[in-house]
Amino acid sequence: MANDAMTVTNTPGRDLVSTNFAYCSLVDRRRLATPGSRLVFACVGDTWVLSIGSHDEVPNGSIGLNAIQRKYLRVSTGDTISVRRFTPPENFNLALLTLEVDFLSRAKARDEEIDAVVVAQLLKKRLIDQVMTVGQKVTFEYRGNNFLFTVNQADVEGQGKPDIERGMLCTDTYIVFEAASGSGIKIINQRESASSNIFRQKEFNLKALGIGGLSAEFADIFRRAFASRVFPSHVTSKLGIKHVKGMLLYGPPGTGKTLMARQIGKMLNGKEPKIVNGPEVLSKFVGETEKNVRDLFADAENDQRTRGDQSDLHVIIFDEIDAICKSRGSTRDGTGVHDSIVNQLLTKIDGVEALNNVLLIGMTNRKDLLDEALLRPGRLEVQVEISLPDEAGRLQILEIHTNKMKENSFLAADVNLAEIAARTKNYSGAELEGVVKSAVSYALNRQLSMDDLTKPVDEENIKVTMDDFLNAVSE
Ligand code: ADP
Repeated sequence: MANDAMTVTNTPGRDLVSTNFAYCSLVDRRRLATPGSRLVFACVGDTWVLSIGSHDEVPNGSIGLNAIQRKYLRVSTGDTISVRRFTPPENFNLALLTLEVDFLSRAKARDEEIDAVVVAQLLKKRLIDQVMTVGQKVTFEYRGNNFLFTVNQADVEGQGKPDIERGMLCTDTYIVFEAASGSGIKIINQRESASSNIFRQKEFNLKALGIGGLSAEFADIFRRAFASRVFPSHVTSKLGIKHVKGMLLYGPPGTGKTLMARQIGKMLNGKEPKIVNGPEVLSKFVGETEKNVRDLFADAENDQRTRGDQSDLHVIIFDEIDAICKSRGSTRDGTGVHDSIVNQLLTKIDGVEALNNVLLIGMTNRKDLLDEALLRPGRLEVQVEISLPDEAGRLQILEIHTNKMKENSFLAADVNLAEIAARTKNYSGAELEGVVKSAVSYALNRQLSMDDLTKPVDEENIKVTMDDFLNAVSE
């Protein structure tokens, strides 16, 4: 969209809410913006986001900025700047915001404390739905002192894009406070403010991601293995946290382990994670398997070598890890091949310490078979059991897998998913998906004429009924 030129003019006597909220009056408001809409304000190579409101004293074609706003934007009255409309993209939420805090004026002579829980709440109350830009300064009064916050980093939760420049402050935004060096500010309750925000969001999202009945497990995994990854590294190093390098999901087949691991991978780095399968890595050529194991880590190592701290997180999902990591000495092929594969993997995982950019998620139905050395701290140290879903979980899974047909009116009104959930004790998620597929096959079968399979199907009349589900369950 074309930029519009505007002359900078003064807005005297305006209370400073935030240094980049300006009031301006536009030549043609309908074309550019309506009061309250957000504009991108381009300035000396920097982009600033402004909320626009009208102001009687600002003439058409001008933008009113008070002295402090002009100072931060590095413009003077009479300058011409360009303004263009900014439409926030979907999901434009800031879930992670790092703020550096400094004193602007010190009313009290003693060092000041910032309670992260309280200040995050106050900030959200005041700045809710405001677009925040990296570099933006916000003044804030707390307990009689004026603080100056600088937005240091923005990150859209779950999208793994650490370098975005701006986002919207929303209720789920997760704010990390850092004191500017020499400010004498002490930040308390940082961790409490962080975890409470994150967990609410994770639980909220799960069903929408197509994962049913596993919110407790997911929250557990998140807290134990990933909460630290959401923080920028300079924060974790200050908190003295070491990232978890590996985790193990274990439990019966078809319970959603792969589904979860994939989702976790996507959340952490925004792209499909690499998935390998134990039996596939096991090559029939002696020596090849060790090479396959080495190759798995090659991308992460190269990335680390060339980009250092800027390296992306590499999530490696290892399905059926028991196939290659059976207890050493337990296999009776007498070749010792298994032992050297386990050793190779351990060496790689231990080497990851230096890398810090790898997360290995192992999955198995047979935890008892695994070499115990693999499960020690620093290796697959977080172990979470994914067990068969309970009744509420089964209902969620059935809802997920019938969602499409319900939306398209193919689900008959008599279908009672809660009853199906009650009748399917000990079914796994994959088996419940099978029940839904089978019920559909009964419904489709009814529509087909056995005499003439070429007869067109009456699409409108396809209905999956309760009987179809009951037939599927009793199969
Ligand atoms: P696992 O890795 O535990 O053997 P998967 O994640 O591969 O199981 O599950 C296979 C399929 O079963 C999934 O793709 C999904 O369609 C379905 N499924 C399993 N568990 C769940 C669940 N908890 N919620 C929704 N679908 C599930």
